[in-house]
Parts: sequence; structure tokens; C-alpha cells
Amino acid sequence: MNFESTEERTMIRSTAEAVAADYGPEYWREKEENGEFAQGFWDELGEAGFHGLLVPEEYGGAGMGMQEMGLAMETLCAEGCGMAGTWYLVLTAGMAAVGIRENGTEAQKERYLTDIATGERNFSIGITEPEAGTNTLNVATRAEKDGDEYVLNGQKAWITFSDRADNMVVVTRTTPLEEVERGTDGISLFIVDMDAAGIDVSPISKHGINYSKSCEVFLEDVRVPEEDLLGEEDGGWWSLVDMLNPERIGFAAAGTGIGKLAADTAIAYANDREVFDAPIGSHQAVSFPITKAYARMETAALMREKAAWLYDQGEECGYETNVAKATAVEAGIEAVKQSMQAFGGWGYATEYDIERWWREINLTRLAPVSQQMAYNHIGQQLGFPRSY
Ligand SMILES: Cc1cc2nc3c(=O)[nH]c(=O)nc-3n(C[C@H](O)[C@H](O)[C@H](O)COP(=O)(O)OP(=O)(O)OC[C@H]3O[C@@H](n4cnc5c(N)ncnc54)[C@H](O)[C@@H]3O)c2cc1C
Repeated sequence: MNFESTEERTMIRSTAEAVAADYGPEYWREKEENGEFAQGFWDELGEAGFHGLLVPEEYGGAGMGMQEMGLAMETLCAEGCGMAGTWYLVLTAGMAAVGIRENGTEAQKERYLTDIATGERNFSIGITEPEAGTNTLNVATRAEKDGDEYVLNGQKAWITFSDRADNMVVVTRTTPLEEVERGTDGISLFIVDMDAAGIDVSPISKHGINYSKSCEVFLEDVRVPEEDLLGEEDGGWWSLVDMLNPERIGFAAAGTGIGKLAADTAIAYANDREVFDAPIGSHQAVSFPITKAYARMETAALMREKAAWLYDQGEECGYETNVAKATAVEAGIEAVKQSMQAFGGWGYATEYDIERWWREINLTRLAPVSQQMAYNHIGQQLGFPRSY
């Protein structure tokens, strides 16, 4: 790993700063309140080249890696976009792009990657189910072969952007769990056209991040052509793993990005606000908790860089990715919490945005992998017995 800033990294950082300058907290406050998709921001990400960062150059992308994507996400989040900096990139430009790049057929790459790079195609990712929850190997959505098609039946929960996405990567079972030797066998991924007959989408009312909808998705006899199988039949688990590590790296970037945004906002406020004839920031009871959280965010961001570097080298990176995700989220949550404290009662007012960032960052301890499951993975790598 090289800590010198390359020309590409400098460019990514300055481009992300320029985008965020046009889509700052006021914009997101309004989008959140109105529950509106941020089409302007989405289009701007396309023009800035961020939707195509991970897409190989031959399909119109920049051919870069997760190190650059993590930097873009963290900068967008930290410079004013909050969770949106990761949220609008992680599913399509992150997971779908990587899944298709690594496991797609040539026809799939030509069909999807070019449109992903321009921002013309929006993907949702259908993993979670109401019954299986965190235990992805327990998914019950079935895909059964019928001639040159598969027929999908099942139900997904919390599928972000599924109300407006063009496609969904759906995790299914082609062989039931009871019939496979290892739980990871028998899983297959499909790229489903969201206009296909038999798909019904119903939004879930949620606590924050209302500039996107997360929905229940019902699949009833949805017919999918066999050429839309992504990766191997029954071997989809490993294709999914290729997509999960970038997602966790993206959420690590959100943890430190939102945390830094809240901390920087609170530092400016604490320099300005005087109540006992001195700026409140001169009291160490106000400055130290934010400073400590900031220091922890800096170390977590370094671990994210390492995880992303390993991923980009094609190396095993599960341990580093989970350490980065778990620590970035803890440090970021502490930063937002202490920033809210520095704002006193005004931290509770929507006009100062901290309460919104608090709602946003709290998602990162629940998804895409909960903190407990990230620590389960880390503990197992350290030598503890597997507990699940
Ligand atoms: C806003 C939002 C957007 C989302 N977007 C998507 C999306 O686009 N696509 C998608 O597929 N999913 C999405 N999710 C789903 C998210 O990934 C899941 O909510 C998450 O994986 C947890 O599943 P669950 O809610 O069923 O929790 P459960 O599995 O019921 O778990 C409940 C609690 O028990 C804990 N727990 C369970 N088993 C263990 C264990 N063995 N050891 C320790 N603790 C354990 C969990 O950590 C958790 O705290 C989204 C969720 C939200 C809230």
C-alpha cells in the first residue's frame, strides 16, 4: 500500500468536493422532508464519472477500484451529502457493477455495464427476506428451471430503490437448503427486469433516508430468461460475496463520512457559540469527546483503505472489511452523538441537520451487515468458535 496521493485520488477528492458543494445539507433536508428521490444529484454523479468508477474502461467506465470508490463516497458524505454520498452509489455503481464485472457473461457486461457507467441504469439488490433476515443462506425465494427460463417465487424485504430501479439482482435458491451438502451451495443470482410480470413492490415507512424508498418485493411466477442468470447456477454464493465486501467498504466510508460531517459542523458551531463569555469549544468537556471520535474515525478510515486495497488486488479481505465496517460505524456514531451534544437543544432542531445525520448513521449499525454479525466474523477469524 502506498500512502502518497496519486493524481487520480486528488482528482476524485476534488470532484467529490465540487459535487457536494452543489448538493449540501439544505438540499438533503428538503429531499428528506419531501421523501423525494434526488434525480439532480444522481445525474451529477453520472457526469462526474462516479457511477462508472468500477466499470472497466472498455464498457465506458474509469476502470478504478474500491480504494477510489471508498474515497469518493467518504468525501461526498463528509462534504455535505451525509448518507446520500454512499447511498446513491453503493447499490448500482458498487454492488451491481462489481457483480457483473466479476461474474457476468460478455452479453451481460455489454448490456448493463455501459448503462451503469452513464447513470442510465439503476439497480436494486434483493438479498434480505422477512423470514431469513440476517441468515442469507436461509433465503426461501425459489428459482425453478422451465425450458429456457427460470420461474421465481418468493418475497424480499427492505429492497432499496426497488420502487424505481430498472433491474434487481435477486438472491434465490435453485436447490433447497435441505438438499445441499454445504449451506453455501444451491444459491443462484438473477438479474431481473423490474417491469417483468409478477413483481409487486410496496414501500416500508422508515425512520430516515427518505430520499429513497426501501420496499417489500413480492415475486409471483416471475419468468426470467436463462441468459439473466448471474454467475453459476447453484454457485451464486461466491458471486454474492464479491458484491458484499464492496457494500461493507461503502458503509465504512459512510460511517466516517457522516461522522466527519457532523464533527466539522459541530466544531464550527463550538467556535462560534458563547454562553459563559467563551466559545463552548474552549471547554474540553465539549471538544474532547468529538476529538476522540475523530481520532478513531481516522484509524477506521485507514483500515477501510487496507480492506479496499486487498479487494482491488483480488486478495481475501473479509477480516479487514468487517473490522473497517464495525470500527468506522462505532466511531462515526460517537462523532454524531457528541456533535449533537455540542449543539445542545439546537441539535434536536431539523434546521441544523445533526438530528437527520443521527437518523442516517444509525442505519449503519443495522445494515448491510449488523454490528453483531461483523463482530461474529471478526471473532471467528481471531479463533473463537463459530456461534451461528
Ligand atoms: C433502510 C434499510 C435499507 C435496506 N436495504 C436493503 C437492500 O437494499 N437490500 C437488501 O437485501 N437488504 C436491505 N436491508 C436489510 C438489512 O440488510 C437487514 O435489515 C439486515 O441484514 C438485518 O436483517 P433483519 O432486519 O431481518 O434482522 P434479524 O436477522 O432479524 O436480526 C435481528 C437482530 O439479531 C441479531 N442477530 C441475529 N443473528 C445473530 C447472531 N447469530 N449473532 C448475533 N446477533 C444476531 C442481528 O444482528 C440483529 O441485531 C435494508 C435495511 C434497512 C433498514
